Amino acid sequence: MNTTLSLDWHSQADSLVIDGRAFVDGRRVTGRLSRQTVSPVDGRVLAELTACGSADVDVAVAAARRAFPAWSRVGAEPRKGVLLELAALMERHAEELALLETLDSGKPILQTTTVDVPGAISTLRWYAEAADKQAGELPAVPPGATALVTREPLGVVAAIVPWNFPLEIAVWKLAPALAAGNTLVLKPAEQTSLSVLRLAELAAEAGLPDGVLNVVTGSGREVGAALAHHMDVDALAFTGSTAVSRTLLEASGRSNLKRLSLEAGGKSSNIVFADTEDLAAAAAKAAFGAFYNQGQVCSANSRILVQREVHDEFAALLTAAAAGYAPADPLAGLDGNGALISSTHADDVERWIVRGRTEGEVLFGGERREIRGSDAYLEPTLLGGLPADHDVHREEIFGPVAVLQAFDSEAEAVRLANATDYGLAASVWTSNLSRAHRVAGELLAGTVSVNTVDALGNTTPFGGFKQSGFGRDLSLHAFDNYTAPKTTWIQFG
Ligand code: NAD
Repeated sequence: MNTTLSLDWHSQADSLVIDGRAFVDGRRVTGRLSRQTVSPVDGRVLAELTACGSADVDVAVAAARRAFPAWSRVGAEPRKGVLLELAALMERHAEELALLETLDSGKPILQTTTVDVPGAISTLRWYAEAADKQAGELPAVPPGATALVTREPLGVVAAIVPWNFPLEIAVWKLAPALAAGNTLVLKPAEQTSLSVLRLAELAAEAGLPDGVLNVVTGSGREVGAALAHHMDVDALAFTGSTAVSRTLLEASGRSNLKRLSLEAGGKSSNIVFADTEDLAAAAAKAAFGAFYNQGQVCSANSRILVQREVHDEFAALLTAAAAGYAPADPLAGLDGNGALISSTHADDVERWIVRGRTEGEVLFGGERREIRGSDAYLEPTLLGGLPADHDVHREEIFGPVAVLQAFDSEAEAVRLANATDYGLAASVWTSNLSRAHRVAGELLAGTVSVNTVDALGNTTPFGGFKQSGFGRDLSLHAFDNYTAPKTTWIQFG
């Protein structure tokens, strides 16, 4: 596939050759079973995906274990070199990766070409560059001794990732894990394995030694659970639901106490105070925060809390801004949303809309759409008029459905925002600097965005408080998930 931006994504999609076999010990492998993977874009069968079992997981973990000594000892500079080469190869294959991601997940091609793939490449480069810039510590110890504190890789890391940002979240895990000298067995979500499988192939082409990065495909219940219970997996990095996070904690306890980092669900609030300088800008960002990526974002700002004085004005502005997230053919190269991950998931999300309609009101949207023969498309939807204790304010919907609520005082806004078991993110809009600091300080969330939504970058840690999990992706803090401090104390006096 060429590297210039294509105009006809449909014909590119028709001629794309897709390999759905797992990738273990440097090559493609088939398991005993396979299953077809289907695109939510138009229902086409994309590939036969290997359905790995626990025996395949054993083989992948053994390959990663064999590769660990050499990869961990080769030194940071060669590791950086291979990862930078992989980033360059991803750039050369960016169009193909974006097309795979769109077909597999339903995201618009405009998003995968401008955000998902470039974002993954940028994070990979960031950790490649960080690999040889880590230093140890020489802490103060009594005279007659020297102590060195070094950061050691943990060994074989398993990573289990979800379907909403398949390539980006996989890179959030694999880049720091590999840069620090670990080897990896990665399990993508069964709905979206194709871009990561291609990435593993490119990694081999970039010179990554066999066994350093393995991709085992298949169901969470089989492959994910086999990794979680494995006695030779040293650490497990997870992004997904809070429900699965609980099973992973249990599996670690029942097996080898493998170290866990868990990025779980969210139900994030966006608080708009009446003193917001530019209410239209706040509404535009609120629409992005709630509906971007079809609302399938763990940190989606799906609870919009607006101070009563500006409630009606803001609701009108938000209605206009949400029109930009109407679903369209993901391969048409247009702005707006694509398909949800599947028709079944759209059914689940639609049930919330039905509840909103009967128990409160639908302020805009609410309709299912059929595009290219697939009914996995939903309009951006705003619910309102629901009581403060309604499930809709606490439970994750994971689709393009937000709920609007009015508040009167700062204290009430903070109380409503914190009234959830989750604590991944929150946003605050105000022109009062003191209020911004005060409210940000009170919110129980891993990231608080002020006068923007969902602020995120390679340099800042991302993760949750409360039942949104623990451990951080991105930034130098991510190395904590994949390394342990080691003290070497030398007595000479
Ligand atoms: P999920 O938890 O069902 O699945 C996530 C991954 O776990 C998949 O690869 C799945 O196959 C695997 N899995 C499922 N059951 C398993 C088991 N018993 N043992 C081991 N692995 C298992 O979540 P999902 O539906 O794929 O994704 C949506 C969820 O992910 C939402 O709750 C969302 O908030 C969360 N998410 C969180 C973040 C974050 O950074 N906090 C980012 C994206 C998504």
